[in-house]
Amino acid sequence: MILEGTLIRPNTSGRVELIAGQLTIDPQAGRIVQVRTIDDAPTAADSYSSPQPPDLGGHATEWLVAPGFIDAHVHLPQFDAIGAGGLPLLDWLDRAILPVEARWNDSDYARDRVRAAIGRMLDHGTTAFAAYATIHHDATRAALEEAHALGLRAAIGQPMMDQHHARDSIRSTDALLEEACALLEENASRHGGRVEVALTPRYAVGCSARLMTGLAELARDHGALIQTHLSETRDEVELALKIHPASNYTAIYDQYGLLTPRTVLGHGVWLDDNERQLLAQRGAVVAHCPVANAFLRSGAMDWNLLDQCGVRLAIGSDIGAGSQPAMPRVGQALLRTVGDLHPEGPIPDPAEVWWRLTRGNALALGWENVGHLEPGAEADLLVLRPDVAWSNAPDPLGMLLHSWDDRWLKAVIVAGRVARRFP
Ligand SMILES: [Zn+2]
Repeated sequence: MILEGTLIRPNTSGRVELIAGQLTIDPQAGRIVQVRTIDDAPTAADSYSSPQPPDLGGHATEWLVAPGFIDAHVHLPQFDAIGAGGLPLLDWLDRAILPVEARWNDSDYARDRVRAAIGRMLDHGTTAFAAYATIHHDATRAALEEAHALGLRAAIGQPMMDQHHARDSIRSTDALLEEACALLEENASRHGGRVEVALTPRYAVGCSARLMTGLAELARDHGALIQTHLSETRDEVELALKIHPASNYTAIYDQYGLLTPRTVLGHGVWLDDNERQLLAQRGAVVAHCPVANAFLRSGAMDWNLLDQCGVRLAIGSDIGAGSQPAMPRVGQALLRTVGDLHPEGPIPDPAEVWWRLTRGNALALGWENVGHLEPGAEADLLVLRPDVAWSNAPDPLGMLLHSWDDRWLKAVIVAGRVARRFP
């Protein structure tokens, strides 16, 4: 497959560039095998006269080709719980969310809802993600199987709790540790897949010391990704510290061995200086979820401050506290949050936001060959045809980010194969 158009190409300086070019994709390998830009194409007229996929029509330069979006923090069952507003985090979790997740006790139902959730992400151009399933082992296995069958790049975890919540939202520590181990082993036997298990202690309040220590050991033995929540609201911080005495919330995870360069912590809104330093030292990633933070009125995470402290950062939709599966809209929300906190300070520019939503999130999740347009990269791609005059705009990437419209998506390619084609 050959794709031609203007490439939104991530570079090694944390930004994207717009450059006319052509990608050659090997659908068998699921990878980009060649990248030519207009400068090294033999004759521009020949190269750019036949847009691909061929039946998409129009002149190639009207098309944009970008890496697929990556969502670093999303809850698969919560696509069915978006919009449950008016409650603070801990009440929202108990009253709105956990009852919806309890339905995944039926793994056939769960499989159906996984398909719907992944379908929605693909419809909005998200081709890779780090996701939470539910505490149910079979439902989590179904989610892993579905992602694997679609050839997606994904990390999926069984969010575990063994204390503090209602009886049907928690499980025994031994059973959970056994199931975490089984998921890792089963997934390892799927050779060549792009799906990995994320060990997922849901958050410190719901997890005993033994559960967190056990999951940290498993992560170390298997080199596995860890995902959890950190410091989303003040009430949560207070409760976590009551249950697990420590100098701060981040130190709770650190004392159980959960802070590694493969740890992704959702939110990090209410952190102090010591916590930011500790996160930077451990190389752990904070996934900023601006839409969700605004919806639950949890507070505003200080992106600039974490960035200046050297904390690795990612961006997540956090569906269903977040309501927005289109990652460019999550990027817009990031800029609003930074702007509100720092009315006169620096703000990430659109070239950086595009990079964060693609290459940046891939690197944060430890996916070296994902999220960029280079030979050898996994071919998760978007073909876009915007209906705005971006090429003549004062800031083309700014126009593409701020006027984002899902209807621009004409094809979504996953591992070198067309997963979605839109008229
Ligand atoms: Zn979350």
